[in-house]
Amino acid sequence: MEGPVVRPSIEDVLPVSASTLGGLLAKEANLFIKRETSLTLNKNETLADILKRAQFSSNDLYQIAEIVSQKINVRKLGIGMNFIFGFDDYNHPVALKINQSEKLDYFIFKNELGSWKGLQAIRPIDAEFIHASGIINATLYEAAVAADVPLSALDNFMRVMGFSVDFQRQLQEGDEFELVYKKTTDRITGETLSVGDVHYVGMVLSGKPIGYYRHKNNSGSIGWYDKNGKSAVRTLMRTPVNGARLSSSYGMRKHPISGYNKLHKGVDFAVPTGTPVLAAGSGRIEIAGWNGNYGRYIRIRHNNTYQTAYAHLSGIAKGVYGGAQVDQGQIIGFVGSTGRSTGPHLHYEILVNRRQVNPMTINLPTGKNLPEIEYDKFQKTVKNVENYIEKNNVKSYAGTSLN
Ligand SMILES: [Zn+2]
Repeated sequence: MEGPVVRPSIEDVLPVSASTLGGLLAKEANLFIKRETSLTLNKNETLADILKRAQFSSNDLYQIAEIVSQKINVRKLGIGMNFIFGFDDYNHPVALKINQSEKLDYFIFKNELGSWKGLQAIRPIDAEFIHASGIINATLYEAAVAADVPLSALDNFMRVMGFSVDFQRQLQEGDEFELVYKKTTDRITGETLSVGDVHYVGMVLSGKPIGYYRHKNNSGSIGWYDKNGKSAVRTLMRTPVNGARLSSSYGMRKHPISGYNKLHKGVDFAVPTGTPVLAAGSGRIEIAGWNGNYGRYIRIRHNNTYQTAYAHLSGIAKGVYGGAQVDQGQIIGFVGSTGRSTGPHLHYEILVNRRQVNPMTINLPTGKNLPEIEYDKFQKTVKNVENYIEKNNVKSYAGTSLN
């Protein structure tokens, strides 16, 4: 009896790429190259233009373009794209190599019969997980840089943790952070291909551990959950501007203009004029326009319970008007000093049942938690990360949500 037919994987079918154009062509096409040169695509340059620069004849151009377009969208070649050209003993161009994708190289060469052929080859990629951790003495940024965390990974870390942690105000000296991220390297060139893919983020805040795991849902979307499947995402952001310094908190204060004691019903973030203001959560715009002392003002209704408001704006973003739908993190306006204001800042309010509450202390509801049906699969993800961290003999906070 015959066994099942195993479909060969792409790795078995295609040759493995080589570090030089000549190396691959000698091995795969019995073609020998005298000299190689590399050219990068300039602004507004087409495939034909760069081939002309490499001295290809117009007869060759046509055939090459036809072969290239079988695998690559020639209308979408990016500026700076690298081409390697190979020349024969008579200094005629006889081959070229294009990076088709992160994983594939595409070789086009003239065979013995003088016609052009295309050959795809796999770029071997090494993927490894990297664990980084550190103790925060000043800022998270400095601690992350000291731990060699790539900026794209730090950005990812902050986007996930940013819903539970206020990095400007909540961090204490001695707090800790850790993350696990994936790094892919091109084995041929040794070049790092990507580092942004973070799989786990953890912190210890004043002795309290929290941790979130990346999980690919059955629907294909990426979610971040704590060990119990609780989402890292909150329905509202506490700080809807980047790089903000809290200049006035919620509560009783002497009003900077009137001088009277009055309840300050929001929080003020000191940020330069023009800084983008983000929608703290998804919802529908209720007001976008002038509103007395508030100056240029936006209010979003998120659901039956929650609203957020943004005041003293210098401008309102395109597409933001009464009735418009906005997504969490979307730019809705720009910081300014309109209305009753002493300088550029964002006045931000969270309203619960139409009454202002303190945005810094309110216990915000989480986003969509892990679907029950995916629990087993998710536990495997958790286990994998934990095994990895354990194997590397490092500490894991592998914790739960703060609230
Ligand atoms: Zn204010």
